[in-house]
Amino acid sequence: MKAWVLDRTGGWDLPDGPLSLREVPTPEPGLGQVRIRVWACGVCHTELDEIDGRAAPPHPVIPGHQIVGEVDTIGSAVERSWLGRRVGVAWIASACGRCPRCLEGRENLCPEFRATGLDVDGGYAEYCVADVRFVYPLPQGFEPVRAAPLLCAGAIGYRSLRLAEMRDGLTLGLMGFGASAHLVLQLARRMYPSSRVVVFARSESERDFAIQLGAHWAGDIHEVPPQAPDRIIDTTPVWSTVLASLRALAPGGRLVINAIRKESSDQDAWLKLDYARDLWMEKQLSTVANVTRADVREFLGLAAEFHLQPEIQTFAFHEANQALRELYARRIRGAKVLLAPG
Ligand SMILES: [Zn+2]
Ligand SMILES: [Zn+2]
Repeated sequence: MKAWVLDRTGGWDLPDGPLSLREVPTPEPGLGQVRIRVWACGVCHTELDEIDGRAAPPHPVIPGHQIVGEVDTIGSAVERSWLGRRVGVAWIASACGRCPRCLEGRENLCPEFRATGLDVDGGYAEYCVADVRFVYPLPQGFEPVRAAPLLCAGAIGYRSLRLAEMRDGLTLGLMGFGASAHLVLQLARRMYPSSRVVVFARSESERDFAIQLGAHWAGDIHEVPPQAPDRIIDTTPVWSTVLASLRALAPGGRLVINAIRKESSDQDAWLKLDYARDLWMEKQLSTVANVTRADVREFLGLAAEFHLQPEIQTFAFHEANQALRELYARRIRGAKVLLAPG
């Protein structure tokens, strides 16, 4: 089968990099696994972290963890009813199921957590295999390609909203407005109808897009919104927004950072942290790490119930590197999705 392979860190400078298109053996499903003929795979900022080495995969690996497709073969000990189902695969490829974190419903923090497209091959390929316990039937009414960004951008956005302990009536701030935030905004408008949502984004096109999708206010990252947000979700890859978010929070406010890694270029921003201004008044800070199966399932259900409209930009299979380069250059409106060949 055809697959895009990441086999070294860096590689932006390669004429046909950072990923290489290869012919590789088509995987066969093992015990408890299904094989999926991939229709589409969402392109995530985490791929940039893998390419740059901030989240280093064992090389070589096929990236991609927002996979939609159809089960075409089942391994042993898998019910036949899975054959032909339209399914999705997300970032969580497996967890041990026995450790204290798994037993308390936080399998995203399992020490044996394995990630799709990082620890095991992902969806930038014609086929992939997955443990059937970590595969999700897609909701009805969603065009499969449009469902791809729900599997990471959406699911982790939903987890961020839960960790933020958002409630109706509170003001929600979204720092950065990429694939995840554009879904969180739509979800928040439905789940918290009395709340106001303010969006902080560097580019004017992102701010305009946020207003189109129902944000009450949009400004640059250091601008002051009409209401201080009680909750902020930071989805940007930089450090300076953490400080800007803490500063913007209302007393008793809570910041949730939704990023697998922060790029380190402006790490000095922490040195400017002013205790009285930025942290005092019982402000809270949390990060979000990975997703659980419950996050993915619940979010897929909510997306269908509320008719969320993922804004997608599709790329033909041979354009994977172009999609990644555009993401790297922050040319973003909604979510990028790589189509399978053929
Ligand atoms: Zn992702
Ligand atoms: Zn575990």
